[in-house]
Amino acid sequence: MHLLTCSACHTTYCSTEPRWRCDCGSYLRFNAEELFQKADLNTRGQSLWRYFEALGITDPKHIVSLGEGYTPLLPDELFGQSVLLKMDQLCPTGSFKDRGSTVMLSKLKEWGITQLIEDSSGNAGASVAAYASRAGIQANVYIPAYTSAGKAAQIGLYGANLVKVPGSREDTAQAALAAAESVFYASHNWSPYFLNGLKTLAYELAEQLAWSAPDWVVAPLGGGSLILGLYLGWRDLIQAGYINKMPRLAAVQAANCAPVYQAWQQGLDDVPAIATQATAAEGIAIAKPVKGKDILQALRASDGTVCTVTDEEVWNTLALLGKHGIYVEPTAAAAPAAIRQLCSSGLITANDKVVVELSGMGLKATDKIVEQAKLGHFAPREL
Ligand SMILES: [Zn+2]
Repeated sequence: MHLLTCSACHTTYCSTEPRWRCDCGSYLRFNAEELFQKADLNTRGQSLWRYFEALGITDPKHIVSLGEGYTPLLPDELFGQSVLLKMDQLCPTGSFKDRGSTVMLSKLKEWGITQLIEDSSGNAGASVAAYASRAGIQANVYIPAYTSAGKAAQIGLYGANLVKVPGSREDTAQAALAAAESVFYASHNWSPYFLNGLKTLAYELAEQLAWSAPDWVVAPLGGGSLILGLYLGWRDLIQAGYINKMPRLAAVQAANCAPVYQAWQQGLDDVPAIATQATAAEGIAIAKPVKGKDILQALRASDGTVCTVTDEEVWNTLALLGKHGIYVEPTAAAAPAAIRQLCSSGLITANDKVVVELSGMGLKATDKIVEQAKLGHFAPREL
């Protein structure tokens, strides 16, 4: 049994009962009590379930897995800087969200949930739909009407009921919340178990780097699960004495939707909602992340930073990665696009060891990429 603690009023709940938020309405944090033993890892399979003890599942028989995790760490060079690309676009449904879904759906199975509601800009919906299907749980996935046709098709293919909501990403969340009165709300943005799955990104990187920390990890930021997962995972490793430093975390937002960047610039402790515009990086277009307060705290505690990239930078970097044989979706080009400014501003220096998270597969957004090519805006340029 684990405990879940409210982020606002600090009420504590046992993890034996299904629950997605506190009675006061705020989100819950998982109380990490136990970490895996390094010595045990040698005998375990190459999926993120090798870190079982850290993930909050009581009985391994409830694990819902598609073989996720343990993605390659590929050396490359971007804008003159040596980097290590974390190839999470190769996860089973084509996005890093599988790290969270495998743990969240395992917990739902452990709780005996038979039907769920999720809302997503696309990738989390596809991921939750796949793992729900695997778990024998009926998924109802709410997505914004503007979501890539490929992502919507993928969600449907996994057997989920699909609800397209006109308007913004926040309108979709509201519609899902309203429907969640009678069905369990398995929101990846709220679930502490989804976040536990994201911590495995830090564990894996530490293991792949022979139990050392890089100087920087650069990741896209929308709802914040990557940045929070990285921070909490590294914190676990430091507390266990497996690692002696925290890497600096660089969060990358789309210039057209950058609420955390604005809050960071203003020195705020929480992230107010902002008005947004459409962006090529649709997967990180979130006007108000649920866990804004924790995100800002994590970035400060890691001596990190937040920056923004324009759509033009995103498309140019997509072309650059293509020339390196790597096909990611536009949202996943945001983090590598930021390397140029992080280096030119002097934050990242030539000798730094830099990991860049590649969050999603290009094949997911083929329709958007084709559209861009037709507009003539996607002619590869010299960078
Ligand atoms: Zn509370």
